[in-house]
Amino acid sequence: MQQPSESLPGVGPALSKKLAKLGLRTVRDLLQHRPHRYEAAVPERKIADLLAEGETAIAGEVRRVSVRRPRRNLAIVQARVADDTGEVTAVWFNQAWLADKLQPGTRVRLRGQLKRNEFAVRSYDLNGVSATADFAPVYPASEEVTPKRLRGLVERALAFAPDEHDPLPASLKASAGLPLRADALVALHRPRSLHEGEDARKRLAFDELLVLQVGLARARAGREGAVAPPLGDPGELTARYRELLPFELTPDQEQAISEIDRDLAREAPMQRLLQGDVGSGKTVVALYALLRAVEAGLRGALMAPTETLAEQHFLTIEPLCAELGVPAALLTGSVKSDVESARLVVGTHALIQEGVDLRDLAVAVVDEQHRFGVEQRRALVEDRSPHVLHMTATPIPRTLALTLYGDLSVTEIAKPPATRKPIVTSWVTAERSSAAYTRLRKHLDAGRQAYVVCPLIEESESSKRAAEVEAERLRRAELKGYRVGLLHGRLRTAERRELMASFKARELDVLVATTVIEVGVDVPNATIMIVQEADRFGLAQLHQLRGRVGRGAEQSYCLLISRPHEELTDTAKERLQALVDSTDGFELAEKDLELRGEGQLLGTRQSGLSDLRFVHWRADRPLLERARAAAETLVDYEGPLADEVERVFGERELAA
Ligand code: ADP
Ligand code: MG
Repeated sequence: MQQPSESLPGVGPALSKKLAKLGLRTVRDLLQHRPHRYEAAVPERKIADLLAEGETAIAGEVRRVSVRRPRRNLAIVQARVADDTGEVTAVWFNQAWLADKLQPGTRVRLRGQLKRNEFAVRSYDLNGVSATADFAPVYPASEEVTPKRLRGLVERALAFAPDEHDPLPASLKASAGLPLRADALVALHRPRSLHEGEDARKRLAFDELLVLQVGLARARAGREGAVAPPLGDPGELTARYRELLPFELTPDQEQAISEIDRDLAREAPMQRLLQGDVGSGKTVVALYALLRAVEAGLRGALMAPTETLAEQHFLTIEPLCAELGVPAALLTGSVKSDVESARLVVGTHALIQEGVDLRDLAVAVVDEQHRFGVEQRRALVEDRSPHVLHMTATPIPRTLALTLYGDLSVTEIAKPPATRKPIVTSWVTAERSSAAYTRLRKHLDAGRQAYVVCPLIEESESSKRAAEVEAERLRRAELKGYRVGLLHGRLRTAERRELMASFKARELDVLVATTVIEVGVDVPNATIMIVQEADRFGLAQLHQLRGRVGRGAEQSYCLLISRPHEELTDTAKERLQALVDSTDGFELAEKDLELRGEGQLLGTRQSGLSDLRFVHWRADRPLLERARAAAETLVDYEGPLADEVERVFGERELAA
């Protein structure tokens, strides 16, 4: 099972490289490649009985074959196919190479539809039944490796399925009525009904969830007995803070605050995840939690993963602290203000590395915790057990959050402050891009600013040149007469800051950018964004990019430009449509997971998610509950399950 895919017959170095790009490196990877759907069951008909109805299957022998080329770019393969009742002409489009394989005498099974007395083929098998089988699996594929190719490879890998060990204790399998893992793998790829395929998936999903839940249960057990200072009820300082804010807190913020207050009143250290899109108002809530520590005579610390983020937090927090009379300090690799006398410290991991005395730390806020290494997170809570609030701007669907951070309580800020209008998003294809630029220029002429994003993703010399060339082209064409700046990944920090500052000061009308527009960029006067070749971006990335507009009170727009519909994959179309339909980060995150089928969600890779191939985030909530319940009894269980837990948790630790 651990053998590389190359150990299978017919797989050479070239193919194994292409498979690796799909994450398929070993025989086991192939066996665990989940079909994203199954073909329907269709009736098999005798050729004489064929009707112009829906999809059907026929089986027969090729009599003769020919290729026609009625025009350039169109090749039609026609094969005369016979069974014992009659003959029909089967047609394939643009697969001229097939003609060689359809030599007279070849046995074929075809699935397709009778149209104008010809059988239009959707899928076919030569000398066997695989692609045309009822419930044939359809795999996530790439342009380089087709679903058909994958089907053949998985079939070869299935020979090894009986070697698969089963990590579940036999008693659990019996009591939960679960099939053997090896049987589930076979049924996953060769179900005799959709139901059987789904049962197989569930068994495999259960294993994944159980491993995570056992790991979490162990982490929980390890923390038992830790004590944090109970902070009692909110006091005078936080009351003044609320009054100081120039706005009313939103219901979601109020909810978050009351949940935090409840946590802080206890001795058990708070372990809460606060999630919400950028701009949803998390920082306001985080500062509240920090001030709760200060008013109890203790200290609060906010830890951010980069200097830039730490600085930004400090810029937000410091003026408020000054007004409240709370000494605050910034501590990063390059800045160190008066930390000793500060009651509230903002910093990078330098906070914990520089031997700062944080003994009276009562509340720690950890921003974007997934971006910290295990060591850094561990160091923060070493020898102390503060209340911890984890913050993330990467919305994670609730089921997923519970799975991954099963020992954290989760708070969502789902609705941003009402003063902000949702961004209007539209999607046009490249031939209509001139209309998009016309719209963009209207905004510029009205005194607004704009972004144009190009998908020149790699930060190499050549992509830098490409970005420069594109900016130059836009300056001469669509954006002629406007002041255009270029932001790309090869700029030095100082250059980038300068560029951002002049954009903010309205010395530039348009910022042409590669994907490096940072999360912190905040220019409320920018009201429109064009994303070129939007089909090449991921859903999460597009959502993040779009968040650069819509930051003021004005209505903002995001125009996604893609290649023509015919050239787009189904998932690319679904991605773009999802963005048009929704601005809700949580909804989009769920959609993203659904489309990708595995945990490649932004920033979650190292947290164990990529091991979850079989879980369906929407539907598997009951399964998750069962796994949690089972995990409680399996904390100390030895055997294959424990090895599996060790493998997943050995290198990383979930939000501990
Ligand atoms: P996040 O940390 O989630 O990115 P912030 O807390 O930084 O969001 O808030 C984003 C912006 O919205 C800030 O300028 C903040 O002052 C403002 N803001 C936060 N809460 C509210 C609210 N309830 N009403 C109006 N504006 C708010
Ligand atoms: Mg913020």
